Amino acid sequence: MTQKSILLVTVDCLRADHVGFMGYHRPTTPFLDSLAAESFVFPAAIVAGAPTYYSFPAILASRYPLALGRDVLGLAPDEPTLATALKQAGFATASIGAANPYVSSRFGYEQGFDVFRDFLGEEPAPLSADRASDGVNDGASSVSGNGWVSRLNRRLQKVRPALGPLGIVYDELYFQYCQRVTPTANSLDALRRFPAADVIIDEACRWLESIGDAPFFLWLHLMDPHSPYYPKEEALALMGEAPVTPYRARYLNSYWNRSDLGTRRLARHRDQIVALYDAGIRWVDAQLARLVESLRKSQRWDRCIFGLTADHGEEFLDHDGRYHPPSHLWEELIRVPLILRVPGAMKREVEKTPFSLLHLAPTLLDAAELSVPSAFQGASYWPQIRQGATYDAMAISECVAGCTNPFRPENRLGSRVLSVREARFKLVLHFDPLRDELYDLEADPREQEPLSAAAHKPERRRLLEIARQHLQQSAEQRDVHARVRARLREIRLEAEQTHP
Ligand SMILES: [Zn+2]
Repeated sequence: MTQKSILLVTVDCLRADHVGFMGYHRPTTPFLDSLAAESFVFPAAIVAGAPTYYSFPAILASRYPLALGRDVLGLAPDEPTLATALKQAGFATASIGAANPYVSSRFGYEQGFDVFRDFLGEEPAPLSADRASDGVNDGASSVSGNGWVSRLNRRLQKVRPALGPLGIVYDELYFQYCQRVTPTANSLDALRRFPAADVIIDEACRWLESIGDAPFFLWLHLMDPHSPYYPKEEALALMGEAPVTPYRARYLNSYWNRSDLGTRRLARHRDQIVALYDAGIRWVDAQLARLVESLRKSQRWDRCIFGLTADHGEEFLDHDGRYHPPSHLWEELIRVPLILRVPGAMKREVEKTPFSLLHLAPTLLDAAELSVPSAFQGASYWPQIRQGATYDAMAISECVAGCTNPFRPENRLGSRVLSVREARFKLVLHFDPLRDELYDLEADPREQEPLSAAAHKPERRRLLEIARQHLQQSAEQRDVHARVRARLREIRLEAEQTHP
C-alpha cells in the first residue's frame, strides 16, 4: 500500500459559523462545502487556546499552550511535533504561511520542515490589530509629523480630557479629519497586510511540483480573514458584493478599530465589516479549489489526507468585542470549523461532543497509519471517527488575559482564563478576579446569560473538578527540560536584539 500524504490548512480567525458546511447562509465556501460532502465534518471542534500563540502548540505539537509555563511561548526546541514525526517517517515536509509572526521560527515552528516559508521580513513585529488599539488615531500616522496641524493636534490631545462631552465631538472630528488627509491607496491590494491565499497557493504548487511523487506533509497557514479586512476585489465579486473603494475599505477598518466608540455606534458598520471578512474566506475557498485541482491532475489527491481548521474565531460584537484578544473564551473565539478527508474512509457523522484540536495531530498520524509520539498530550480519535462511533469527550481552552503583545515576555504573566466545554455545559474560569461562569449551550448557545450559582450544581462541580485536575497535571507533569530549552532560546533572542 502506498503511503498517504497529509495536507493541513489552517485559516486564521475563521469562525465555525461562517462556513457553508456549518450552516452559514452566505456563499463563503462553495468548494469546501463540496469537499465536506465527502469528509468527516466536526460539529464542535474547539481550539485549546486563543489567539494564534495559544492555539498552535496544540495543533502542531498536541500540547496545551500553557503546559510549559505562562512565560513560554511557541514550541520548545526539539519538541516532537506533527512535522518532526512525519519527517522522521520519511515525508517531504513544507510549511508555507502568510506572514503571521506568532508561527515563525522565532517561536520554534520551523522544526521538522524541509522548507519553511513564512513571508516575514528580518524582524517580525507583533500584530497590533489582534486587539482594538487606539483607533481614534488609526490611519493618522501620516499627520503625526511636525506641521502646524500636527502641533495643533498634539495640543488638542493634551486638553482632550478637560473637554468633557465636547471631547466626543473632538474625537469624531479628528477621526473624520484623519480619514480625509491620509493619502488614498489605489487598490485594496496596496492596503493588504498579509500575502493573500493566491500567493501562498502558488508557492505550495511550486513546492509540490518540486518533490515528485514522494509522500508529503504540507502545512499552509492563510491570513485572508484576519484584520485589517482588505479582501481581494475578485473575492467581493464572487460573493456578489458591490466593489468597495480603497478609501471606503480603509475608512471602515479605521472606524471598526476605534477605541472611543461603544457597541451601538460600532454596530453601524458591523455588516460591512463582516462582508469584507467573509470575502476573505471566499478567497481562501477559491484558492484551495485551485490547489486541490492541481493535486488531482498530478494524481496525488487520492492519496492525500486533507484537514482544514482554524486557530481561533473572530468577534463581531457578539459580546461587544472585536477581533480576537485573549481575555475571553466565547464560542465565537474557540469554536472553529474542522473537516477531515481521508481517502478510503467512508464519510460518517461525527459525534456532537467537543473535539479538542489537541487531538488533531495524533488523529492525523493515526489516519496515515503512523505511530504517535509519546510526548503528545492528546490522543487519536481516528478509530471512533472512522466508524462513526460515539465517544465522550470534553475540551479545555486556555489563554492569559490581556496578553495582546506576547513579544514582550512581561505581558505573558497575566492571569489565566480557562474554559471546560462539554456538549451541553461550558464552564469559564477567570482567575483575576476569581470567578466562574457556567453556560447551558443547549438552552443558550450564544452565551447570553450565565446560569445562577444555585443552578446545575453537580455539573458545575464536575467541570470545576476537571479544571482543577488540568491545572494540577499541568504543573506536575511539566517537561522542565523543554521549558528550559524554550527559555534559553528566548534569552538568546533578547540578547541578540539588545546587542546585535
Ligand atoms: Zn490567529
